[in-house]
Amino acid sequence: MSEHAPEIESYLGTTLKRRYCGLADTLESRAELEAIRRNIHQNPELAFDEVRTSGLVASLLDAWGFAVTRGVGGTGVVGTLKCGEGRRSIGIRADMDALPIHERTGLPYASANAGRMHACGHDGHTAILLGAARQLARTRNFDGTVHLIFQPAEEIGAGGGAERMLADGLFERFPCDAIFGLHNHPGVEQGNFLFRSGPFMAACDTVTITIRGKGGHAARPHQSVDPILVAGSLVMALQSVVSRFVDPNEAAVVSIGTLHAGHAPNVIPDSARMEISVRSFSPDVRASLENRIRQLAISQAEGYGAVAEVDYVRGYPVLVNSERETEFARQVAQELVGADKVVSQAARITGSEDFAYYLQQRPGCFVRLGNGANQPLLHNAGYDFNDENLTVGAAYWTRLVERYLGR
Ligand SMILES: [Zn+2]
Ligand SMILES: [Zn+2]
Repeated sequence: MSEHAPEIESYLGTTLKRRYCGLADTLESRAELEAIRRNIHQNPELAFDEVRTSGLVASLLDAWGFAVTRGVGGTGVVGTLKCGEGRRSIGIRADMDALPIHERTGLPYASANAGRMHACGHDGHTAILLGAARQLARTRNFDGTVHLIFQPAEEIGAGGGAERMLADGLFERFPCDAIFGLHNHPGVEQGNFLFRSGPFMAACDTVTITIRGKGGHAARPHQSVDPILVAGSLVMALQSVVSRFVDPNEAAVVSIGTLHAGHAPNVIPDSARMEISVRSFSPDVRASLENRIRQLAISQAEGYGAVAEVDYVRGYPVLVNSERETEFARQVAQELVGADKVVSQAARITGSEDFAYYLQQRPGCFVRLGNGANQPLLHNAGYDFNDENLTVGAAYWTRLVERYLGR
């Protein structure tokens, strides 16, 4: 990798201007990228159902001269382009799936599929990577192999698209020395890059606790075992997990998202059920959270004569950016948009990403790209991807490939 290749090279007596992709290079395709992005936005598809989207991606890649492999890990697509004799290779990933949300933006290109919406900007991530594909195929200013990975089903948690693509032999069939990805980030100025070396996004686990008591008449509580009382007590006890059992220098989240029990005021129900989201940034903290939650559930229930069943499902692991690749990607972004639009070590994010699975197997960097300071948040029915980022993102990927696979 020649990270500091000269901008201008003399070659055979003629001056050859050696230039990496800049913002202006992708501007001419802005209108086309916007049309592609809005087309995908209008036709959102849920996890592993991205048939139309992946078909569109595959046919564009094919038309631009990529070797296209369809059906990787379900509806995933990989586009491969090789230039020169270089043995190095790089992977860049975009996600394609939408969410089960009913869109309320009122935009002319709003979702045509009721109850489905691109509320996480994966339409934008896909269009950005297509923009880079087009530019790379046009200029072929690199020496090596680039694999563009269009992944299905990022949104569904355990068993999602990254796991499926890896299980389908992604890195064996499409060897990558390193892998890179991006996600838009509402709440930050459009076009600003947030990098972080090391743990960046949280591991996310989901716990379902079922408390089994003994139902009966509300008038005779002494003849019942009340699961609602146990649930109430457990809700309070769980607040101690982060505050009393996690090192204050670490970060963790335990949020109870659902709590259901009973159906009538004069009946003590048989059972109560709660679902909890648990987030952490290190394997040790992750393990101790699980231990503590299990112990609390079981002992609290026992204390009231009930029984707790704990179903602890591990979701996406912590996303860890490798130091060298993060520094490299940061330099690329800085060259492109200037240092004032690049944050080198952003705060950790308690959201999770299945890009983490790729980073367990290859070095690489996942970056967040500002979607606008006052934009609706991700997974909100009013959210929309900021099209100003189409050219910024496409230029970032193109330049990153050109630099990583420098001639
Ligand atoms: Zn999302
Ligand atoms: Zn997302």
